[in-house]
Amino acid sequence: ATPVAIMVGTGKGASNGILIKSAEALETAHTVNTVVLDKTGTITEGKPKVTDILTTGLAAEKELLTVAASIEKPSEHPLADAIVEKASELGLVLKTVDRFDSVSGQGVVAVLNGKEYFAGNRALMDSKQVDISSLRSACDSLAENGETPLYFAQGQNLLGVIAVADVVKPTSRQAIEEFKAMGIDVVMLTGDNKRTAEAIRRQLHIDRVVAEVMPQDKESEVRRIQESGKKVAMVGDGINDAPALARADVGIAIGAGTDIAIESADIVLMKSDLLDAVTAVQLSKAVIRNIK
Ligand code: ADP
Ligand code: MG
Repeated sequence: ATPVAIMVGTGKGASNGILIKSAEALETAHTVNTVVLDKTGTITEGKPKVTDILTTGLAAEKELLTVAASIEKPSEHPLADAIVEKASELGLVLKTVDRFDSVSGQGVVAVLNGKEYFAGNRALMDSKQVDISSLRSACDSLAENGETPLYFAQGQNLLGVIAVADVVKPTSRQAIEEFKAMGIDVVMLTGDNKRTAEAIRRQLHIDRVVAEVMPQDKESEVRRIQESGKKVAMVGDGINDAPALARADVGIAIGAGTDIAIESADIVLMKSDLLDAVTAVQLSKAVIRNIK
């Protein structure tokens, strides 16, 4: 495109809160035929709330929530924030852990009053040999409903499950429909479990979902799609999205996201609205049309 067309396109983007960092990004966006969307914080608000508490009977509900919030307090994960917030709404008094470690993509391990606790997904429970069978079918139905079950265990004993759910942003559905109307495939990439991810895929008519992706594997998922001959735009907000944003043909960061995601992207959506990702592609098409 001519320098003038690029300037006009970049200016139009800026006035819509779409920060296009390079001429190359504006010129490449019109070739995209697959858009990869992160779930938490990109499609959803990224502020999960507690929706259900299930106990195995080893601890009362409030006791479970007190322990859960105490061991999640040092975590910076949004799921942990949801649990700590619920405990504080109920006025529960938290304890201080003796030890805390996070397990990437799975949860946390903590020591409280000299006892070891595990909090996280099914993979973490499996690796710690916690038997979750008493709550398995209840958890499966929560997940079918789009909620994320988090398991809490003291040693190998399952104490219960706290389910959390995150609200889909108001414009996500429309943005996904518009991408599809433009002939662009929509793929969702998430660390969340398969059932929950599939429920959201169905609800939003997303073409394909890749779930239970470890943080370090998002980039290779994008690369795999590129190797199948596709031009990929990736939209994300998290630290774990940064390498995938850099790898994609066009990396698009959510403005409310982490600094590292914003730095790694070619385009930043200042209003954090997924519809602006659609506008960015349309803008690129318009710029290219003008020069032909
Ligand atoms: P994402 O936030 O994109 O879903 P993550 O890799 O951050 O992906 O987390 C993957 C999964 O690991 C979460 O869905 C959750 O089940 C589990 N997990 C991660 N951190 C925590 C935590 N602090 N407490 C409980 N579970 C966690
Ligand atoms: Mg995210």
